[in-house]
Amino acid sequence: MPTCQSCSKKWTWKQTIKTIFRFECPYCAKRQYESASSRIRSGVFWLVPLVFLPINAGFGFSVGLALLIAVILGFIILGLYPFILKLSNEEEPYW
Ligand SMILES: [Zn+2]
Repeated sequence: MPTCQSCSKKWTWKQTIKTIFRFECPYCAKRQYESASSRIRSGVFWLVPLVFLPINAGFGFSVGLALLIAVILGFIILGLYPFILKLSNEEEPYW
């Protein structure tokens, strides 16, 4: 789970999901950023549904089923995201 770099409090899974688009600490209300190393990892993470698309084409699933699986995958990834997320006080450059 992510730990706030400002007040060193650990965020719960629920708190992380709640603030996933803003990264605002629920304890000290300080803005947090995703650390560069975490961003690279989560980038790979978010690619998983894209990798799924050609596999889907290979199996010849219908568009509706493919969409359903993509949505389910999206939820699974969102659910796992707090586990890989690492926070930083400042916006770190990628390189
Ligand atoms: Zn905090």
